[in-house]
Amino acid sequence: MDFTLISQATSSLNAAVTLVKGFVSLRDETQRLTAVNEMLAKLFEANSKLNDLVIADAERAAEYQTLLREKRELEDELGRVKAEKADFDRYELAEVAPGVLAYALRDAHRGLEPMHYICPACRNNSKKSILKRTENATQIALVCQNSDCKVHLQISTKTPRPIAYSSTGWPG
Ligand SMILES: [Zn+2]
Repeated sequence: MDFTLISQATSSLNAAVTLVKGFVSLRDETQRLTAVNEMLAKLFEANSKLNDLVIADAERAAEYQTLLREKRELEDELGRVKAEKADFDRYELAEVAPGVLAYALRDAHRGLEPMHYICPACRNNSKKSILKRTENATQIALVCQNSDCKVHLQISTKTPRPIAYSSTGWPG
């Protein structure tokens, strides 16, 4: 509430009231006309101050709504961060091969969902990406499924199997 504007509006209204009281006793037409003009000027002034007050109040209300919205957004963000932390707390750093680290689902949570690993690089960027097991002729690896991430963890190598030929001459 802007008390200066209220005080100014009240002062203009009081001046108008004083003019109205004086107006009654005026008999001269010119004096009456001047008094009416002064009253109108004071009323216009009061109205202008009251408008300023309404605008200031509207601005304050808009400011309050903005602050309220920002508070809600921060609360939502905090909730999201807490949920993300709680989810990440279900994992622990594990050695999936000598010197190769990934986050593994903790024992306490196994059984509720299948055992899996999440990408350490994505986790450091607050993203959860489950590593996918891939296998080709030479290796088994855990690969991040996030297309922006290049994590590829080799967990074992395969020794090429000697080709055994069958009696037909084709690999058996
Ligand atoms: Zn990743």
